[in-house]
Amino acid sequence: VIAEGQPEHSKVTTCAYCGVGCSFKAEMRGEQLVRMVPYKQGQANEGHSCVKGRFAYGYATHKDRKTKPMIRERITDPWREVSWDEAIAHTASEFKRIQSKYGRESVGAISSSRCTNEEVFVLQKLVRAALRNNNIDTCARVCHSPTGYGLSVTLGTSAGTQDFKSVDEADVILVIGANPTDAHPVFGSRMKKRLRQGAKLIVIDPRAIDLVRSPHVQAAHHLQLLPGTNVAVVNALAHVIVTEGLLREDYIAARCDRDAFESWARFIALEQNSPEYSEQFTGVPAAELRKAARLYASVKNAAIYYGLGVTEHSQGSTTVMALANLAMATGNIGHVGAGVNPLRGQNNVQGSCDMGSFPHELPGYRHVGNDEVRGAFETRWGLKLDDEPGLRIPNMFDEALGGHFKGLFVHGEDIAQSDPNTNHVSAALKNMECVVVQDLFLNETAKFAHVFLPGASFLEKDGTFTNAERRINRVRKVMTPLSGKDEWAAICELSTALGYPMAYNHPSEIMDEIAALTPTFAGVSYSKLDEMGSVQWPCNEASPEGTPMMHVERFVNGAGKFMLTEYVPTSERSGPRFPLILTTGRILSQYNVGAQTRRTENSAWHPEDVLEIHPFDAEQRGILDGELVSVASRAGDVALRAKISERMQPGVVYTTFHHPGSGANVVTTENSDWATNCPEYKVTAVEVRRTNSL
Ligand code: SF4
Repeated sequence: VIAEGQPEHSKVTTCAYCGVGCSFKAEMRGEQLVRMVPYKQGQANEGHSCVKGRFAYGYATHKDRKTKPMIRERITDPWREVSWDEAIAHTASEFKRIQSKYGRESVGAISSSRCTNEEVFVLQKLVRAALRNNNIDTCARVCHSPTGYGLSVTLGTSAGTQDFKSVDEADVILVIGANPTDAHPVFGSRMKKRLRQGAKLIVIDPRAIDLVRSPHVQAAHHLQLLPGTNVAVVNALAHVIVTEGLLREDYIAARCDRDAFESWARFIALEQNSPEYSEQFTGVPAAELRKAARLYASVKNAAIYYGLGVTEHSQGSTTVMALANLAMATGNIGHVGAGVNPLRGQNNVQGSCDMGSFPHELPGYRHVGNDEVRGAFETRWGLKLDDEPGLRIPNMFDEALGGHFKGLFVHGEDIAQSDPNTNHVSAALKNMECVVVQDLFLNETAKFAHVFLPGASFLEKDGTFTNAERRINRVRKVMTPLSGKDEWAAICELSTALGYPMAYNHPSEIMDEIAALTPTFAGVSYSKLDEMGSVQWPCNEASPEGTPMMHVERFVNGAGKFMLTEYVPTSERSGPRFPLILTTGRILSQYNVGAQTRRTENSAWHPEDVLEIHPFDAEQRGILDGELVSVASRAGDVALRAKISERMQPGVVYTTFHHPGSGANVVTTENSDWATNCPEYKVTAVEVRRTNSL
C-alpha cells in the first residue's frame, strides 16, 4: 500500500501526531501512498514538518494492523474473526445484557484525542443517546483536563488564547513544563526563530530541556524547580510583580473582576508566596526568580507556553489558574505576542474536548445540568438526556473494581499502557464483562478485551482535527479503510443496534450537526474548510472567518477572574526508602506510547526508553552510563538503561514512556489533580539500583 515511483495525484490532509496540526500533501499512486510532502499553504506549519509527520507513516500499513473484527468469550480464549455485523450485534447484546443486570450506569466509553472530531462526536452521542448515561470520558483526562478547568474559571473558555504566529511578536517567551523542540517540533522551531531574533526566554522545568542551552538559543533564566512545586514558583513570580509595583493597573481596572483581583493581590503578597520563602522547597534561587519576574513584567508582549509538566500534577488546575493570573496581572492577554497557550500533546486533544467527551459537558463545554443547553440536544436527538455528570476514567476503574462497572468501549486509546498505576488499571479491566477495543493494533488494552473492532489510520479517514491554536483542519481520505468500514460508521451501527438509530452519509453531515448544536462551531462546514483551508473557532455569525486570537476586547467570561492559588505540596514525597523523584517526558522521534512510531523506521533513533540520572546520584549508587538499573516506587518497579546526564539536577531522574517494555506507568502513583483527576505522572518517589535483567 506504500509505493515507490512518481506520484499520480495528491490530497491535502493533516498530520495525526502532535497538536501542531501540520498540513501535508499525501502524494499517491492509485491507492498507494508514495510520500508525505509538507504543504506550503498549511496555516499551522507553512510548509515545515518534523520527522514524525514527514516519515513516520509506515505504521498505517504495518503487518501488525488488524483488519477484521474479532470476539472471544473470555480474555484467555483465542480471538475468533467475525463479520462486522456479528461483532456489532454481539457488542450491543453484551452491553444490553450488562445494563439490564447491573443498571444503566454500568457501561461507558473512553474516546480518544487521536480520533477525528466527527468520531468523537458520534461516540459521545452513542453514550448519551443509546446507553442513556453520561459515562463518556476522554484520554484528555490524563493530559489536559486541568487546562479545561483552569482556563475556563479564569478566562471563560478552555483553549489557548493565541494562534501560533503570535509567537513571532513575543518579546519574552515563558516556557513551563513543556519541551517544544521534542514534543511540538514545528512550533518549537518557530519559537527558536523568534528567540534567535532577540526575544528573551524563561524556562521553568526540572530538567534542562534543549531550549535552555542549544547552539543558537540560551535561556535568560532557567528556573530548575523540583517536580511538584510549579504553583509555588508561579506564585513567587506573581509575588514579585505585586510587591514591586509591576502590575498593569490600567488593564486590570478595565478588563478584570475587581473583587477577585483584590483578594488575589492580598493573598499573593503574603510572605508564604515570596521567592525567598519558596526557595526552601522549590530549589529555585530567589534572586534568579526575582530577575525572571521582572523580565516577564517588563516587556510589552510576554507569552506563556505550557505542556503536561504543568497539568499532570496534583495541582495541575491550580498551576493553569496561576499562569492565567500572571498573564492578567501584566496585561498579557488579548494582544498579539502575548497570551496563555497550552501545547496540546495529541493531534486532536483540543477537538476531542470541544466535542463533549467529558462526562459533565455537552459539546462546546456546556454543563449537562444546563436545562437550556440540554434541551437543544434533546430536541435535535429526540429523547431525554441524563442531567447528572457521568463517571471519569479513574472512577470507571474504581467502580469496576467494586463490581458496578462492567462494560467499556475504548476508542483509539491504550489505557493499559498510558494510564497511571498499570496494575490497578489491569485489575479493573479484568473485572469487566465486556471490554471493546477499537484500534489499529492489538494493543496492551486489547489483552483484556472481549471484542476487537479494527480502526482506520488517518490516511483512511475523512474528518477534522482541531490543533492547539483552535484551528480546525481537514483530514482527507486517501485510502479505503483496510477494515472495509469507517470508524464513525461502526459507531453509528452500534448505536443503531443498541436501539438508538444513528446514520450519516458522510462526516460532513456530522459536522453540520455539530455546527447546529455548538455556538462556537456555528459557522463551520466542510465547504468553508475547503474554501479557507482551515478555520479557528469560535467561528460563527460574529466571526464568520474564525478567531485567531481570543479575549481581545473582553474576556469570554466578561471580566477576567483572578483565582486564589495556594500551594499545597503533593503527598508524593521522597524519603529514605524512595529518595529520588522521577519525572517523565517525550523524545522527538517517538510519539506517546509508541504504538505508531515504534512501527516505523523512527524507532531506530530511540529503540528503548532510558533513565536520565545526574552524575552525583549515579556515583552514589555505583551506576555507570549504559548499565541496567531497576526503578522502584510504592506502586511497582521497572528496569531501564541508565543515561548519566547533566540535564538532570541531583535528586531528580527522568524517563520517556514510548516503549511498553519499560512501563514507566508501572511505577507512577494514583495521585491526581484535585479538580479533574488528571494523574500526577510527573512526580513519583523512586529508588534506583543496579540490576542484571530487564
Ligand atoms: Fe506532525 Fe507535530 Fe511534527 Fe507537525 S510538528 S509534522 S503535527 S508531529
